Amino acid sequence: EVTIHGVSKSYGSLKVLDDVTLKVPVGSVTTILGQSGSGKSTLLRSINHLERVDAGFIAIDGELIGYRQDGQTLYELKEKEILKRRVEVGMVFQNFNLFPHLTAVENIAEAPVTVRGLSREQAEAEALDLLARVGLADKAHAYPRQLSGGQQQRVAIARALALKPKVLLFDEPTSALDPELVNEVLDVIKELARSGATLVIVTHEIGFAREVSDQVVFMEQGRILETGTPDKVFSRPDHPRTAAFLAKVL
Ligand code: ATP
Ligand code: MG
Repeated sequence: EVTIHGVSKSYGSLKVLDDVTLKVPVGSVTTILGQSGSGKSTLLRSINHLERVDAGFIAIDGELIGYRQDGQTLYELKEKEILKRRVEVGMVFQNFNLFPHLTAVENIAEAPVTVRGLSREQAEAEALDLLARVGLADKAHAYPRQLSGGQQQRVAIARALALKPKVLLFDEPTSALDPELVNEVLDVIKELARSGATLVIVTHEIGFAREVSDQVVFMEQGRILETGTPDKVFSRPDHPRTAAFLAKVL
């Protein structure tokens, strides 16, 4: 379970997260919608402590991310300890971010060897299973430049899964893809959802969000304006700003 409680963050005088509170239960899918600049990426990046928050806290299964608590005071962890906890949070970015000089299987096996301490042989065996899971068993030895955008993104998903994260974050995973490649990536994410993974997804794919989400969150100017089931948020939003946003994107 991911618990986000009273989280605020500013860049200078710009408040990008404003008292954000959200729970993501184990095995559930949360999608985050909102206009450009509403703070969606900042919230995702805060969940694995790529961003420091100014107030509030984020915990995964009750364990604070990036901090330890002493009475009422939170102390930031040392970089090494932060890295250890970050393993529990997988992240998939818009632009795949694969290592260009490594093959698909090497991209996936890299972190299990360096972070989880698996043997190269064991890590590559697991990587091949993950490649099969994302439908790329035949591309194990291809380099990123030899793969389509959709294939690269599926390798990136397999790479994130290789560390067996408790939660997987997706920041607009299909935004950089040609339209005909979007579905192959969304299908992989749907399959993860069906298999019980805990997912938080920033997306502009409204049909997908409606189909896959247990919970939909609408953000504006760093605040969560609305949280609810897809049916509620898409059909009967409480907030007029949500309705206005949906009218534009639907
Ligand atoms: P998009 O849909 O365009 O990806 P977003 O909802 O993900 O937008 P964020 O990237 O979280 O929005 O940005 C929220 C606000 O914080 C924006 O106004 C952005 O300009 C600002 N911001 C983000 N990162 C920084 C930074 N490192 N320094 C200063 N301002 C930043
Ligand atoms: Mg963003």
